[in-house]
Amino acid sequence: MLNLTRASIARNGFGRCLMAEKRSSAVKSVRRGLVCADHSDGSGNNEVYDVIIPGGGMVGTAMACSLGMHPNLSEKKILLLEAGNKKVMDKVPDSYSTRVSSISPGSATLLTGIGAWEHITKWRCKPYKKMQVWDACSDALITFDKDNLEEVMAYIVENDVVVAALTKQLDSLSDHVQVKYRSKVVKYIWPTAHQAVRSVPWVQVVLACGETLQTKLLIGADGPNSMVRRQLGIPTVKWDYDQSAVVAVLRLSEPTENNVAWQRFLPTGPIAMLPLSDTESSLVWSTSHHLAEELMALDDECFVDAINSAFWSNVNQSELVETAGSLFRSALATIMPSAGSPRQLPPSVAAIGPKSRVMFPLGMGHASEYIRHRVALVGDAAHRVHPLAGQGANLGFGDVACLTQLLSQAAFNGKDLGAMQHLLEYESERQRHNLPMMAAIDLMKRLYSTNTAPVVLLRTFGLQATNMLPTLKEQIMAFASK
Ligand SMILES: Cc1cc2nc3c(=O)[nH]c(=O)nc-3n(C[C@H](O)[C@H](O)[C@H](O)COP(=O)(O)OP(=O)(O)OC[C@H]3O[C@@H](n4cnc5c(N)ncnc54)[C@H](O)[C@@H]3O)c2cc1C
Repeated sequence: MLNLTRASIARNGFGRCLMAEKRSSAVKSVRRGLVCADHSDGSGNNEVYDVIIPGGGMVGTAMACSLGMHPNLSEKKILLLEAGNKKVMDKVPDSYSTRVSSISPGSATLLTGIGAWEHITKWRCKPYKKMQVWDACSDALITFDKDNLEEVMAYIVENDVVVAALTKQLDSLSDHVQVKYRSKVVKYIWPTAHQAVRSVPWVQVVLACGETLQTKLLIGADGPNSMVRRQLGIPTVKWDYDQSAVVAVLRLSEPTENNVAWQRFLPTGPIAMLPLSDTESSLVWSTSHHLAEELMALDDECFVDAINSAFWSNVNQSELVETAGSLFRSALATIMPSAGSPRQLPPSVAAIGPKSRVMFPLGMGHASEYIRHRVALVGDAAHRVHPLAGQGANLGFGDVACLTQLLSQAAFNGKDLGAMQHLLEYESERQRHNLPMMAAIDLMKRLYSTNTAPVVLLRTFGLQATNMLPTLKEQIMAFASK
């Protein structure tokens, strides 16, 4: 891994990755891999799979399902390896799980196509139609909604529900998609550029139990600390944020339609309340490590008071910013009288779900290469983002859709699935989408991590102006919906 300082990352980080994206395919092919002809198993002993996917989180399980469901890949032998236990859901638990994700319409389309969305909607899933984001240091706000309020902006789904739905679907594909739970990979052996006589041309995967498997294509979905990425020595731009997220299940003071997602930017980080049902919401409060630890230590009553105060208190506002902001707002309203959206008030919180408070340190990471010869990375193994835009899993589902499309095309054309040609296409296509999104999320995190007056004024004007421009808001929504 590269160890870069923040300053050098700002100078080199995203730029280097973008430059990597622009390098010509030919140069990449020579440096990073070689296209070899299809061989039979050189070792004679171990089973050879067409695809092995280490990592059965939301993204890896979706990858296995998506490949397994595609008619062009129905003859391929696919294996998913997960270190943890199988997640089944015979009955929806009474209480909500703490870990939830905002699933974009684009991800819902992928999950529908692979048969998992049907289970998710039958079990538990809350659509929302509007999102209000506002600044605790000024009155500036932005509202995202669809013109037609029948249309859904995104869905809040428990991560366990997503994995259980995909697992149920995988059970129906058991003739060619195998899954091994409690199977931790401890080592990979990569095929060498010049195959020696009797050497193995495939990627070898060594499990903790001692078993060795082989595959023509390895898809690393093993999360932000990906062993696949580390063992390949793929350069990765990464840093820890000065924040942790405290998550919890919230009980609202009174039942509401609850179809709005709320996010307020405090100087210490954003606090978000995402709808789960008429009476419950999910909290994602990103804040300094120190404050997060204090929040974790509070008793339930004080924790609820802290949440309500974080959403309602005006303690961070200054008169100067307020006056300038309201003048700017009035000027905009004169030019565009019908633009903008009215402020809505978030629901107040009455209690938290028992033992639902959990804390996660936050970070950002980007692998400058998503592929190597016979290897591709998907999901958090390739890119990790701050949760403020609710995009991490959605970017991963985008990887799954893109890689499935390219591999199914390769299979249709009788090509070797592990060949660099289509893997390079995957890398270029996904980096073109993921990098701008990651840069925007990181910029938002930095822009809102200060209460310095000039920066607050700048972002206040920016947010108010954006709120008045429906076309720009639509473009932002369309980008985030993919
Ligand atoms: C507080 C918070 C809120 C978030 N909210 C949202 C949101 O609203 N919307 C959104 O889209 N995203 C959100 N995210 C991001 C999202 O949770 C992640 O992007 C997503 O879970 C990544 O999934 P993954 O499958 O790539 O990785 P992981 O979930 O990390 O899964 C990796 C899997 O690999 C397995 N594994 C690892 N190593 C091995 C090995 N050696 N052998 C076998 N198996 C192995 C692990 O057991 C694990 O199951 C949020 C994140 C946080 C922290």
